[in-house]
Amino acid sequence: MSKDMRSTASLACFTGEPLFPETLSVGRPQSGDTDRFFDRLRDMFSRNWLTNHGPMVQELEAAVEVRLDVKHAIAFCNGTVALEMMLRAQEIKGEVIVPSFTFIATVHAIRAAGLMPVFSDIGSTHLLDPDAVERAVTPNTAAILGVHTWGQGCEIERLQFLADQHGLKLLFDAAHAFDCTYRGRPLGGFGVCEAFSLHATKVFHSFEGGLVTTQDDAVAHRLRLMRNFGFSDYDTVVCAGGNGKLSEPAAAMALTNLESLSSFISVNRELHEVYRRSLQGIPGVGLLDYDPRERQNHQYVVLEIDQDGFGMSRDQLLRILQAENILARRYFYPSCHRMEPYRTLDPEAGHRLPVTTSLCERVLVLPTGGQIAPIDAEDIAHLIGFCQREAGAIRARWEHDA
Ligand SMILES: *Cc1c(COP(=O)(O)O)cnc(C)c1O
Repeated sequence: MSKDMRSTASLACFTGEPLFPETLSVGRPQSGDTDRFFDRLRDMFSRNWLTNHGPMVQELEAAVEVRLDVKHAIAFCNGTVALEMMLRAQEIKGEVIVPSFTFIATVHAIRAAGLMPVFSDIGSTHLLDPDAVERAVTPNTAAILGVHTWGQGCEIERLQFLADQHGLKLLFDAAHAFDCTYRGRPLGGFGVCEAFSLHATKVFHSFEGGLVTTQDDAVAHRLRLMRNFGFSDYDTVVCAGGNGKLSEPAAAMALTNLESLSSFISVNRELHEVYRRSLQGIPGVGLLDYDPRERQNHQYVVLEIDQDGFGMSRDQLLRILQAENILARRYFYPSCHRMEPYRTLDPEAGHRLPVTTSLCERVLVLPTGGQIAPIDAEDIAHLIGFCQREAGAIRARWEHDA
């Protein structure tokens, strides 16, 4: 390791220099060839077609339809608006079953669409637990909104069975899941609709952007109208809508990034493998393993820290890593049911969410992507191993300094 790790004093949270001179963060943007991007912008200015379903948005939608093998891809200005319009396009009322272990936008979109979120617990892979979903179904349930967390497909077959049995719409937040598969088929083509985010922190970005994918012609038609205020032609508005349009510069960024996406993913895949190898055998550290039969974008390197086995809590480890300029992150902490307005709407939700509640205290996501070299991932893993071995001494020093 590039720094002497023989004593706890060498930790940056005590008296040492940070392991990394510059911060390594989760979700640092990965962008393709900027020359290609600027060429596209020059073409855009010569056309002077800047937004309103421009040629680059159309090209992007067609490229996504091919890549995800889906009939319709509709581009939006961001992932949250994509989720909201996807929900509104279902023309439903009542409750939507959703995990609490998700980014808050999933749940805000349900509220914004005039629907009521009902939180369901998750299973050991951090995905919606179909048994918990079944228990949450009431006569008011209108839809299930699953989240393909970390790019892993939900248990789609069981959720689809429940949806069919109870007459519910099955929808997915696929914000993490671009270029990932379920049973060998790209995510994007399941349920009624799926929504993606093209935010700068995601594996495939357009600065800000989103997509809804669907196999349903009627839903796709409605979404295209809704995205543009409900206009069917210059002077005719045929439905409620809003402004969900993606701009041409954003589409130019997405098209450029699509050209490099496979190489971003292979960098991520290699780093994930280095982390896996280097973290192996450290007590109390579990690395979430992805199903090797599925394609993954490896955008998230997800640890579970077990305080008893590791010797310190996730938050204590996080404090050490941050001092070393490793900006690892807690995820979905403290989870949606403990954030407003949901905490007030359903103060008892936590009782139904034991896995969510305990997972929130343990999850830690490590930096990955082009800014990290394999040797950095190794150093980070070795530092985590050092913290485990020296946990007692580190805690004693904190107590002493306090
Ligand atoms: C990023 C994200 C969103 C929101 O997408 P934006 O494009 O940032 O609006 C929604 N759900 C999940 C799970 C996300 O990670």
